[in-house]
Amino acid sequence: MLKESEYDIVIIGAGVIGSALANRLSKRFQVKIAIVEKEGSVGYHASSRNSGVIHSGFYYRPNSLKAKFCVEGNKQLQNYCVDNNIPYKKTGTLVVGKTKIDENNLEALLKRSKENNVQDGRIINEIELRKMEPFTDGKFALYSPMGSIVDSRKLVESLGFEAKENGVKILLNQKVISVKAKDSKIIITTSMTEISAKFVINCAGVYSDKIAKIMGLKLNYQIIPFRGEYFELPENKSHIVNSMIYPIPDPDLPFLGIHLTKTIENKVIVGPNAVLAPGKEAYRNKDVNFNELMEILSYGGFWKMLKNNRKRVEEEFIQSLMKTKLLEKVCDLVPKIELNELIKSYSGIRAQLVDDNGKLVDDLVVKEHENSIHILNAVSPGMTCSMPFADHIIENYVNKLNFKEK
Ligand SMILES: Cc1cc2nc3c(=O)[nH]c(=O)nc-3n(C[C@H](O)[C@H](O)[C@H](O)COP(=O)(O)OP(=O)(O)OC[C@H]3O[C@@H](n4cnc5c(N)ncnc54)[C@H](O)[C@@H]3O)c2cc1C
Repeated sequence: MLKESEYDIVIIGAGVIGSALANRLSKRFQVKIAIVEKEGSVGYHASSRNSGVIHSGFYYRPNSLKAKFCVEGNKQLQNYCVDNNIPYKKTGTLVVGKTKIDENNLEALLKRSKENNVQDGRIINEIELRKMEPFTDGKFALYSPMGSIVDSRKLVESLGFEAKENGVKILLNQKVISVKAKDSKIIITTSMTEISAKFVINCAGVYSDKIAKIMGLKLNYQIIPFRGEYFELPENKSHIVNSMIYPIPDPDLPFLGIHLTKTIENKVIVGPNAVLAPGKEAYRNKDVNFNELMEILSYGGFWKMLKNNRKRVEEEFIQSLMKTKLLEKVCDLVPKIELNELIKSYSGIRAQLVDDNGKLVDDLVVKEHENSIHILNAVSPGMTCSMPFADHIIENYVNKLNFKEK
């Protein structure tokens, strides 16, 4: 019998990844689980500061974890939303193009979509595109009917609530400060108390590299925070977009480009860009965290990444400071938008891994280390992937611990 402060599994971080894992684990095993979260609620960071898109899965490299879990996660998430009354809507996704080069790129994306087993993706012509989105001036588009939007905050709250109902302890307002192995246990010291676990799952999002390092992992990469800023169109412009309108993605970058999304509240949001942030939670340029900024600047991989992507990084920064630049990008997708109609809204931070060679890591990364696993690079489409990803973690890492099934 475990004492009150002793757990079988402790999960660090109550974002959508930690909450989905707690949810799945508590349904399946007779285990005592705690989630430790430094904020006062679940899903406070990336998991509720995103586009809320349930992606179809056509963007991702075939056979990657992202491709596999996104396609499966799209179905599972939609079913979960129906079963749990979470606001979601199947709007479809459009990637629009205009030129011959765009056409070739969309054909390549369609091929990828088929390789990834995305359901019913197809290229549509201008007439069909205009029927779906009368205000875009694209000439054709890749259309995927599986693309949907969800209230991401309600989703993560529901996952957390269900886990709690299944007996998971959610320890809020407790920052994990140190994690040390002692005998056969792991001692987790938080800002409030000390607890122990047989097994730790690090789902600390943008801080997961730090937690991994304090637990003794040697990593050949570091998380570099890339902020995604959003703008909102005024209410009288909400008719201008019905679904989601994306540009052709740059195959060399893990970011999808500024897009327009009709949210579940019928607002149109524009974004996100991808600006280097001066801190892991620097939601505005002025939120500089000097220690974290120094850690970024003293990392060799950061400078190599900058050298490889200097033009894009500069463009994104200028675009963040000058709305006119952003407007050019937006009007390329939907022309009838004025500068004063781009109203500054929320922002989110991508927990983007950059390796020692300066490469932006593309796929989800899981590292195993002495009674613990570490989820790194849970960037987009991490929310869409969350449920099958949780099952993957259970099958490949937790099952071998032989916890008793319910
Ligand atoms: C701008 C943006 C747009 C995106 N759009 C989409 C989209 O449309 N669709 C999609 O599928 N995905 C999208 N994503 C990706 C998705 O949001 C993430 O993959 C997902 O939210 C990651 O979840 P997480 O649980 O790893 O991280 P988080 O939600 O950040 O959770 C990590 C948690 O760990 C906690 N924590 C950190 N350190 C500690 C500590 N020391 N002690 C205790 N707690 C700690 C944090 O407070 C936080 O709550 C987007 C992401 C961004 C940033």
